[in-house]
Amino acid sequence: MYDLSNISIDGLKGVGRVKKRALNNLGISTVADILYHFPRKYEDRSNLKKIHELLPGSVETIKGTIVTSEITRPKPRFNILKVVIYDGGSYLTVNWFNQGDYLKNILTRDKEVIVTGKVRRNFGRLEMSAYDYEIIDGRGENLNCGGIIPFYPSTGGLNQRFLRSLIKYCLDNYLNSLPEVLPNELIQPMNIPPLQWCVLKMHFPDTMEEQEKARMYLAYREFAFYQLGILTRKKSIMKNGIIINNNMLVQEYIRSLPFKLTAAQIRVWKDISKDLKSTKPMTRLLQGDVGSGKTVIAVMSLIASCDSGFQGVLMAPTEILARQHYLDLKETLGRLNLNIALLTGSLAQLEKKRILELISSGEIDIVIGTHAIIQDNVMFKRLGLIVIDEQHRFGVNQRLRLQQKADSPNVLVMSATPIPRTLALTLYGDLDISLLDEKPLGRGNVITKYVSEQNRKKLYDFVKKQIQQGKQAYVICPIIDESEKLDIENAVKMEKVLKEVFTGYSVSLVHGRMTPQDKEEIMGQFRAGNLNILISTTVVEVGINVPNANVMIIEGVERFGLSQLHQLRGRISRSKNEAYCFLLGDIKGQEAKYRTKAMCETNDGFKIAEMDLKLRGPGEMFGTRQHGIPEFKVADLITDGKILEASMRHVRAFIEEKQYIKAELFGRHTKFMNIDFSKIYG
Ligand code: ADP
Ligand code: MG
Repeated sequence: MYDLSNISIDGLKGVGRVKKRALNNLGISTVADILYHFPRKYEDRSNLKKIHELLPGSVETIKGTIVTSEITRPKPRFNILKVVIYDGGSYLTVNWFNQGDYLKNILTRDKEVIVTGKVRRNFGRLEMSAYDYEIIDGRGENLNCGGIIPFYPSTGGLNQRFLRSLIKYCLDNYLNSLPEVLPNELIQPMNIPPLQWCVLKMHFPDTMEEQEKARMYLAYREFAFYQLGILTRKKSIMKNGIIINNNMLVQEYIRSLPFKLTAAQIRVWKDISKDLKSTKPMTRLLQGDVGSGKTVIAVMSLIASCDSGFQGVLMAPTEILARQHYLDLKETLGRLNLNIALLTGSLAQLEKKRILELISSGEIDIVIGTHAIIQDNVMFKRLGLIVIDEQHRFGVNQRLRLQQKADSPNVLVMSATPIPRTLALTLYGDLDISLLDEKPLGRGNVITKYVSEQNRKKLYDFVKKQIQQGKQAYVICPIIDESEKLDIENAVKMEKVLKEVFTGYSVSLVHGRMTPQDKEEIMGQFRAGNLNILISTTVVEVGINVPNANVMIIEGVERFGLSQLHQLRGRISRSKNEAYCFLLGDIKGQEAKYRTKAMCETNDGFKIAEMDLKLRGPGEMFGTRQHGIPEFKVADLITDGKILEASMRHVRAFIEEKQYIKAELFGRHTKFMNIDFSKIYG
């Protein structure tokens, strides 16, 4: 058997230098890549029509003999090949535009052909504009007409005819060497059709039912293959769990809070403390809309961990957020006699060294920080709990690396963006979910409105009134994809304008390129209430908590995703005051209009996330590329939930029995479709 992922496309039939480069652009460099290059759609051209049955306006397929073939040149650089076809009963003129010079030698008299094209009326007579043809010469392949025809993702230089014939060639010559990717135990009991059959039928199905069956079992394989990786890795991490069952300090902390826990917080805490008490390490996702009070839960878990003699970690995606958590918690935790430290990338060397020592000696109880915590030189004495805030900002590998800093730590990940169950299963293999589905009492409403350009002045007057009442405002500048430099230029311009509009008020700008110190200086001013208006690129997006700010202006609303807009808005519903979110920008586009409407209509983060997921799909919404969610070739995280759960069940049972799957399986298929195991294990 060949290893198809080692056979280059060099020297395959019809692949020269130019075609090779075009194929490479599609991510194809080996025969395996070609076999896994699946169609993006199909067209059913199996239903052959008689010429006399044709109706204008539809796309049809006919079969017949070429009677005449003639090229005309109505204009310079424009030609039409007119081919008359006879199907035994009637004649039809079929036109090819601007391909005549090449096709006139192929579509010649007496050849028998199948043609697909659009039927039109021309001066009262029916004609056809051809899309595709197939010559019937006894070699018998209907690759382009006369069956269910695949259409492939392509780039310039590669037309569908070429791709179809290349793929057919590879199927004919190499399909037999394509090995099954899953162990027999996961295939046989369920009577799953062989991988080779599935691949063949994805390309050239005889019916669409066949294609769907093939797709389904490829999706099953993709999910299962990926799950095997995640679960075996997880198993190697989790041996025996830590028991955390001391709640004295937690009770003291709860008593010190200026508010009562919500019923949802109490319920979630029950879930978590049960996990912590058991020997099985916790892997729990805490989902709660922005402002639902996730931080308190994180702190309770961390305190419980310390009270039982373990260290805890709280990792946040940005330096600003980590610092905010640190500042918020330092005093409270100090009163409970817990030592906490902040660990971020911008710490001075000496200070960092000192803190690292305190962490490894166990003197620090709770470390709060950014992904700087993941680095190898950070070592714990007895890490018991890891909390990851805004988990969707981190990749699978980052989480797993943090987990490897202890024997089998408890893990709590928190997110304001609800992850659909399928995605959660994919990311974590196995994960419990708790919901904070209730906001603390006495939160003011957020009113969200779209403001057109001509009402800008009115808007600013309104903001002035709010500031006069002691409130503060955010102004969010749009992100421009191409360049951070442009973002910042824009933001600086905005600062200039607003400083003029709001003379006599204090206005400042934070953006991503500022030093952490400068950022923190301004954030500190804003938190302290010394700053009326904070202009910002999206650095305030996650987690920032300044309850006195109750106005947010978002510029360039069309440039933000729905979940992102909701996250931003979450910054201003943090007190009992009524809050106002104003959206500005160009909403002529359909999606922008839909997003703006959704924002104005609902404040429910779960509904928003659902709409966002439908709008963009999980890939874009969660930034799969950075975050290690595999981009499955055929499996769909939204619609294939049932298949995922089935594969999950089988894989879990399989892993329970087998111990040495890694060596046996992963050596053989380091790369199946897109899933690269060296990455999962990276
Ligand atoms: P998020 O879930 O978005 O991370 P936070 O944990 O930052 O939300 O909480 C938002 C605000 O609500 C904070 O100021 C926090 O002190 C406050 N808060 C949390 N729980 C309650 C509660 N039960 N009652 C009143 N306020 C609360
Ligand atoms: Mg938060």
